[in-house]
Amino acid sequence: MKILGKPIGQWEEEFPIVRDLIDLKETLWINPKKLPIDEAVAESSVTMEDVLDASARLERFAPYLALAFPETAKTGGIIESPLAEIENMRPYLEGEAGGSIQGRLLLKLDSHLPISGSIKARGGIYEVLHHAEDIALQSGLLKLEDNYAVLMEPRFRELFSQYSIAVGSTGNLGLSIGIMSAKLGFKVTVHMSADARQWKKDLLRSKGVQVVEYADDYSKAVEEGRRQAQGDDHCHFVDDENSKTLFMGYSVAALRLKNQLAEAGIPVDETHPLFVYLPCGVGGGPGGVAFGIKQVFGGAAHCFFAEPTHSPCMILGLSTGYHDQVCVQDFGIDNRTAADGLAVGRASSFVGKVIQPFLSGSYTVTDERLYQYLAALTDQEGIRLEPSALAGMKGPGNVCATEGGKAYQSKEGITSAMAGATHLIWATGGNMVPEAEMSAYYQKGKSLLTK
Ligand SMILES: *Cc1c(COP(=O)(O)O)cnc(C)c1O
Repeated sequence: MKILGKPIGQWEEEFPIVRDLIDLKETLWINPKKLPIDEAVAESSVTMEDVLDASARLERFAPYLALAFPETAKTGGIIESPLAEIENMRPYLEGEAGGSIQGRLLLKLDSHLPISGSIKARGGIYEVLHHAEDIALQSGLLKLEDNYAVLMEPRFRELFSQYSIAVGSTGNLGLSIGIMSAKLGFKVTVHMSADARQWKKDLLRSKGVQVVEYADDYSKAVEEGRRQAQGDDHCHFVDDENSKTLFMGYSVAALRLKNQLAEAGIPVDETHPLFVYLPCGVGGGPGGVAFGIKQVFGGAAHCFFAEPTHSPCMILGLSTGYHDQVCVQDFGIDNRTAADGLAVGRASSFVGKVIQPFLSGSYTVTDERLYQYLAALTDQEGIRLEPSALAGMKGPGNVCATEGGKAYQSKEGITSAMAGATHLIWATGGNMVPEAEMSAYYQKGKSLLTK
């Protein structure tokens, strides 16, 4: 069997990490192509200006969102999630890692973001708003200086109803795009992969969203969505594999995080490194957030992605440098995981190329471990997340208590700064999971914990 003309043995020789991936072994990959921050910023095609532009757009829409989604009224229409200390998880995480974790443990609760209960409420909603703004400005019905609360008026629903939006999704992106598009008045179609949960399809249909189901995986759903949207110039396809707009929507999280950490009195600088652990599917969510964080905190921030052992598409794309030219299935890895939000076999090459000089590394986690974290976090902190959202939890142990993590600290010259570190685990979803489903997740985690 050959991949891009090379036999497997040759891949393993050139890129030793590939053997671990094929064997479904949990592994920590340190990115050898990470650059000093000044060089990374200098060569980046995406910039801080792009982040600020996205932030300003979300500010313009805030008065509208506060009215359209009353749950966002208390934050003035800004869709943001809180930080939580999770020190009660320390004994569990240290026990598992077999060593101490220096520094503070924080959780970023994107699981509790308003409107769609996952990190997709950042990028997905942003892209729909961006598109709506373009149409409204072009129609002459809206001006940049207007108070966007006017978008509540029926003439805008009428305007948007002449346009459609389509997306391919494993579930959560579909929820965000579907709910936001339907609220504005767009016709919206969500193409869903086989691993998408039934309750997500039901919820979308209840909001008037057209849901098309595929027996195949995420890449297929995206491909079909893209194909059906082609040739219809009133249809906007949200391209999760290539969208810079989605990416910028996610990146705004970093500006907000900076304020939250400052308000909490938590320093981030050379002697107080910030480690951020982000569950990764196709890459847009974690990539956008990590990009923003590196722009805002520079060299003091260290971003790691986390992927299921059965879907390590980003490590595969980055470590080989072949990005979307290879997929995990090429290497006999099945892309079957309980972490439905991360069940992606082929990574975004747009994200891979942008994030390569900024990213510290990525690691893999088994499904069993995700369930164990799910139960442990429920028991220790009373916080309930979906399986995908727990992949970040292994990060602090990997950085503090493994050979690879210690070598990374030493390479970065931060070994002696670790006592002042902050570990921020990005919890990417869970709040909308129905009770029965969540309780089944918990039971499964509980049984794996006591084994
Ligand atoms: C989509 C998703 C991710 C990863 O985002 P990508 O943009 O696909 O990399 C992580 N966690 C959850 C819960 C998600 O829904």
